[in-house]
Amino acid sequence: METLELNNLWESVKLELINELPENVHPWITPLEATGYDNGVLTIVTGQMMGRDLLKRNYYKSIVNVLKNITKNPNSDFVILFDANAAKSIHKENEKLQKKLQTAIQKEQAMENLSCMQSSSNLNLKYKFENFVVGKSNEFAYKVTKTVAENPAKKYNPLFIYGNAGLGKTHLMQAIGHYTIFKNPKLKVKYTKTEDYVNDFISNSRNCKDTIENMSKFNKKYTNIDIILIDDIQFIESKKKTMSQMQHTFDTLYNKGKQIVITSDRLPKDIPTLTSALCSRFEMGLMVELTPPDKQTRCDILKKLADDYGIKYSEDAIEYIANHFSQNVRELEGAFNRVSAFADISSKPITLDLAADVLKCEEASKEIGFEKIAETTANYYGVNLSEIKGTARSQKVSLARHMAIYLSRELSGKSFVSIAEFYDKKHPTIMFAHDKVQKEIQTNKDLAIAAREIKQALKVI
Ligand code: ADP
Ligand code: MG
Repeated sequence: METLELNNLWESVKLELINELPENVHPWITPLEATGYDNGVLTIVTGQMMGRDLLKRNYYKSIVNVLKNITKNPNSDFVILFDANAAKSIHKENEKLQKKLQTAIQKEQAMENLSCMQSSSNLNLKYKFENFVVGKSNEFAYKVTKTVAENPAKKYNPLFIYGNAGLGKTHLMQAIGHYTIFKNPKLKVKYTKTEDYVNDFISNSRNCKDTIENMSKFNKKYTNIDIILIDDIQFIESKKKTMSQMQHTFDTLYNKGKQIVITSDRLPKDIPTLTSALCSRFEMGLMVELTPPDKQTRCDILKKLADDYGIKYSEDAIEYIANHFSQNVRELEGAFNRVSAFADISSKPITLDLAADVLKCEEASKEIGFEKIAETTANYYGVNLSEIKGTARSQKVSLARHMAIYLSRELSGKSFVSIAEFYDKKHPTIMFAHDKVQKEIQTNKDLAIAAREIKQALKVI
């Protein structure tokens, strides 16, 4: 096909794609170029590795259909290739800006390498693969994270690990960091909690006399690395600037072929603050869920802890603890620590009697229903149960309702959908209420005290 013809064909296809595909896909379409057309197969190149993967994965059919319509050839197909030269031309503008700042950046580089190493060493030494007990509930997540650690950015990029609190997300994520630092010390790993990333971004944008210079410092810190580990993305702020910064960090790393690992307590589509652009990026790679460990795994975790501390135990004591703490490994470990501290002080082995004595958990093991939580919370705040379950918006009732929703999730670990059913509300409303309390409780003492007192009234602590 003549160049002119090819250009015409491609321009029509592109126009049609822009018309048909959602707006957040347009940035991947515009930089595409067609380089050949042979036997109905169109060759397209892009300088955006992520654009290539995303279009291939999510829009393959739409693109083929547009091609079929325009060329009237039912055997139409296309290949999309990554081309580093195209990448260069796209980034030319950026490079000009970068050059201007090069001297400043070089100076900062040394500092950043240092801070990168420091934050790598921030990794908790316990969170290694060797210390992770593998069972049915986490075997897949374990294998996938191990593969990522062995071959960063080769498979499963980004890797999105999700699941309820206390199931080992941070542990597995940091294990990737440890493994990499040990196997290949040249690779730079950065672990960051989402909250720290957001705060860092805000303080950088606030403190800057020279915006560009300051932001380039921030960008380098989060993109001049080989593996980024972003923990608890559900805490991302909904602010436009924060979102586009996170998107920039993601795109830069992805396009450089770097590994991205993210954790969250839920799927990307259930994080209400997330833009659709970020959501589709997080969904691009592999999403893997951690679920509560089965009884065998819980017993194995407890035995490993006891062995590590050199504490003697009886099988039935281990089973007893495992039976009473089934939803959260952090709580399981907490129970073990209380029992072992007691055994230690009294110089006794861990027996069933001792465990039962310390934990007195018969009460706690009974499942607490949403009704009980709502009722106790209503009593605490001096409002009626019907008000909590209703739609009244007075400050007192709203606060009580938000607290009851938060506790329902925390204490039962049940889905937002089931809580939404109980309260007869939409599930994003429930997630919003839960997240609000979860966040505020970190800084608002009164709220933290209220949550504790209600839990005491429910006899869960
Ligand atoms: P999350 O990030 O999902 O809330 P963490 O990774 O912080 O959970 O895990 C909570 C605690 O439970 C940590 O101390 C972690 O070491 C431990 N843990 C979780 N799963 C396992 C496991 N399979 N084997 C050993 N320890 C585990
Ligand atoms: Mg965590």
